[in-house]
Amino acid sequence: MNYIIETQNLTKCYGEHAAVRDVSLHVPQGAIYGLLGRNGAGKTTVMKMLLGLARPTSGSILLFGRPVKGFPRDIYSRIGSSIEAPGFYPHMTAKENLTIFSRLTGKPDPSRIEQALDTVGLSSDSQKTFSQYSLGMKQRLAIAQVLMEDEPILIMDEPMNGLDREGIKDIRELILEEKLKGKIILLASHNS
Ligand code: ATP
Repeated sequence: MNYIIETQNLTKCYGEHAAVRDVSLHVPQGAIYGLLGRNGAGKTTVMKMLLGLARPTSGSILLFGRPVKGFPRDIYSRIGSSIEAPGFYPHMTAKENLTIFSRLTGKPDPSRIEQALDTVGLSSDSQKTFSQYSLGMKQRLAIAQVLMEDEPILIMDEPMNGLDREGIKDIRELILEEKLKGKIILLASHNS
């Protein structure tokens, strides 16, 4: 079977402490894959290694069937991600924040911004700034940012955090829709 994300014995140590030990993942096309575990289990560290933000101490990573060595931009540019606190500008609106982000990724597309905001239930016309957002609205904006990238792999750290029951239902449906498009969604959660 061909895997889009594959790791073999992935390990990350900080000094004497192993944050992640011997993690072997096999994620095929079109899968929703959950990294489940308590706080501090190492979920974010696995995601950071997949994104090239932390260097593995040992073990290997293959993305799209290719071993990841050095910093393969062409591979990383095919992954949309939201991990830890995304750096949104507090005094800008959702649309302004996503516009800046889309310029940084080199793929500005105003229609995708509107579509992504609409999908997560935020108004693209709203004059509310990020600092005036509730926790759930901030979380929805982070998800819109990942969706806007429209890449084959979406990596999200605790996307349901801070959402109410309705919000969790909305995001679950949205993730299923992305899966049906053939995408891989890798999620971390401390809720099983
Ligand atoms: P949470 O559910 O709280 O987000 P997590 O499963 O994502 O937790 P990680 O953030 O991956 O856990 O952390 C795993 C372990 O690695 C923890 O013990 C943490 O203290 C440690 N750790 C993470 N980053 C570093 C770092 N930069 N330096 C030292 N230790 C770190």
